[in-house]
Amino acid sequence: MAGGEVENAQTATPGGDTIFGKILRKEIPAKFVYEDDQCVAFHDVSPQAPTHILQGLDKSGFRLVINDGKDGAQSVYHLHIHILGGRQLKWPPG
Ligand code: C5P
Repeated sequence: MAGGEVENAQTATPGGDTIFGKILRKEIPAKFVYEDDQCVAFHDVSPQAPTHILQGLDKSGFRLVINDGKDGAQSVYHLHIHILGGRQLKWPPG
């Protein structure tokens, strides 16, 4: 994950193991906020808002994002939902 999200998305491809697989197997560290036998939630390593969890809620408002494909700036091909909050979010997003 050397570059930014848009740069990483240019070369990311679906299939095979991902960095999230390594996080799920606890092979690399992540700050977990929730985990059960169906799903996990952890803080994004590069937060784009004061709250940026890959699942969690913020009572003053939040945004759910699923990036899909190269033009959608997807860099990790493992289904995940971004939860952004903790500040006034702008519209339209970049
Ligand atoms: O939607 P996309 O696939 O681009 O999202 C991947 C997310 O995974 C990025 O927001 C990135 O910061 C995050 N990430 C992480 N920990 C890693 C590698 C990536 O939280 N070790």
